[in-house]
Amino acid sequence: MDDLDSLARDIREAACVVALTGSGISAPSGVPTFRGADGVWDHFDEGQFTYGRFQRDPAGFWRDRLELQRALFGSSYRPNVAHEALARLGRTGPLEAIITQNTDGLHDRAANVQNDVNRSVDNDCDREYSEDGGRTNQTEPAESGETEPTDPQNASGASILELHGNAHRVVCVDCGSRTPAEPVLDRVDDGDVPPRCDCGGLYKPDVVLFGQQLSKPTLQRARSLARESDVFLAIGSSLVVEPAASLPRVAARSGATVAVVNLEETPVDRHASTVYRADVTEILPRLADLVESV
Ligand SMILES: [Zn+2]
Repeated sequence: MDDLDSLARDIREAACVVALTGSGISAPSGVPTFRGADGVWDHFDEGQFTYGRFQRDPAGFWRDRLELQRALFGSSYRPNVAHEALARLGRTGPLEAIITQNTDGLHDRAANVQNDVNRSVDNDCDREYSEDGGRTNQTEPAESGETEPTDPQNASGASILELHGNAHRVVCVDCGSRTPAEPVLDRVDDGDVPPRCDCGGLYKPDVVLFGQQLSKPTLQRARSLARESDVFLAIGSSLVVEPAASLPRVAARSGATVAVVNLEETPVDRHASTVYRADVTEILPRLADLVESV
């Protein structure tokens, strides 16, 4: 009937489908965006949330972070039908990986809601990964003692590669251990600042702060997924910030069918096979239905 049928057919026939998501997929869940009109940085001073401040003044950083975190990532946000549609495609279709610029953890939650349904066999088009969706230069690993997160394995079958980390976790800068953020935030609320790991190391939000680099292995993984993909879906991302900006181009150069779903025009549109200037919550559920309707 329309382009969506043809995209659904391409997805069904693909060996490796990769999705890249940006803030546009979480906006329908009410998660505020960092930039733009009424963005987070209109209400908070982004200069207070840098890696440099974390190193200089971890106690002050964490007190401010608590406020930001509670405003931003309250647990009231729920995955929406677009997150759920991707989780379905991961579970039942050939969606191998979701590369996300978001730190809200909603892909993970959407996948885990369905935890006990059809645990699928691992994918071969591999896995891995690494908030503030912004202006970091991504060439070298962060200089802290952090290690790569272990795979945020979820039952959906799709790996989730969190380019900018996950605000619902903290990481110890010494031993690299990761733990849920909420109990640590409660400690900060009780005056235990800066919060420390059992090993004595400082806890840091497990996100890429301003002044930190995206991790090299994460970037390599994202690029290799883009290269391996037969279908690459760019969803709710303005595709102007690296590495998101270049991943669809890498995919297109490698012969993938590239589809863009975004309300605004993107610089990648002219490289795409199909562009949907539409809401992600409208397109993705229809797409998942079509993929499954054979
Ligand atoms: Zn530690």
